[in-house]
Amino acid sequence: MSEAGRDSRLARARAAAAARGLGALLVTKPPNVTYLSGFVGSAGALLISAETATLISDFRYQTQAQEEAPSFAFFRSPRNIVQGLAAAIADLAEQDGPGRLRIGFEAQHMTCAARDELHAALAGKPAPVSLEAAGELVEQLRLRKEPAELEAIRRAARITDAAFEHVRGLVRPGVTERELAAELDYVMKRQGVDRLAFDPVVASGPRGALPHAKPTDRPVAPGDLIVFDLGASVNGYSSDLTRTVALGPVTDRQEEIYRLVWEAQRRALEALGPGRTGSQVDEAARAYLNEAGFGEYFGHGLGHGVGLETHEAPRLAPEAETVLAPGMVVTVEPGLYLPGLGGVRIEDLCVVTEEGVEIVSTADKPARLPVVG
Ligand code: ZN
Ligand code: ZN
Repeated sequence: MSEAGRDSRLARARAAAAARGLGALLVTKPPNVTYLSGFVGSAGALLISAETATLISDFRYQTQAQEEAPSFAFFRSPRNIVQGLAAAIADLAEQDGPGRLRIGFEAQHMTCAARDELHAALAGKPAPVSLEAAGELVEQLRLRKEPAELEAIRRAARITDAAFEHVRGLVRPGVTERELAAELDYVMKRQGVDRLAFDPVVASGPRGALPHAKPTDRPVAPGDLIVFDLGASVNGYSSDLTRTVALGPVTDRQEEIYRLVWEAQRRALEALGPGRTGSQVDEAARAYLNEAGFGEYFGHGLGHGVGLETHEAPRLAPEAETVLAPGMVVTVEPGLYLPGLGGVRIEDLCVVTEEGVEIVSTADKPARLPVVG
């Protein structure tokens, strides 16, 4: 990320705060701190006004903060960062002159305890301040990705796709979910990712009916459906991929469920594009599964945004009214989960473009249930 690019993000944050009548913005959620400043340390916050940009952190991060976030003045906090925030806010309020300084804060992120402590610390200061929930202001700025962000996501996806293709070849009776998950971890890290975006899901047989199953010591067995869900992180940006395979022999019922999910995903990908809402795209898959009589087994939203967080805005779900626009990155991941029988989910990572959609995921996705082993 160039300094010019970072400064334009800061300018957009200032404009968004001003549009809400806020005199300053307090940013405490780590991916938002990273997005606006470049700082990736685990303890830090930003205080941004029309004229000032301050990064508040403690002694441990002083050098790192000054290197990673040169556009920000460093404010050294005691180890209890809430006290540091109060001191930085009090300084700003005094410089701000008479009148109450309205500060927007990230109510979805800050704990009630931290807010109460901040209120108490500010109550003793001379300049009046009000703290107001700013909504997901920075998340809104993060919706449309810049070219460098898209490139990081594509690189993470390439590594993820290759890891899946490799590990699919290792599936045979007796190998455990845990062994397959460990191999995914190893292969992705060997390819140079900073970290995984999340712990891989390998869910076999009846465990596939749990959408977020943790890998266990269960050995995969003939007749199992096996759901793989994995993601890598490159330069802080995530990827997210799900594929379902079967260890033969497969039943007609398993084949039918796979075909339904595959077709639901095809319809959703066709519906995805600029100008559509998240609920319209969700409905393309959901209506199809409902008509087939399987709607009750599709219990989650169709997809989610991906970026500095693996799950972020915008969502593709029945109530999701965000209008999709070029540069947004979303997953499309219908699934069916049948207790006792198992699950099928197919997930691709997609970029909304001017023309429609770029499907970033390249892992093999046959129209018929792929049999391995
Ligand atoms: Zn996933
Ligand atoms: Zn996902």
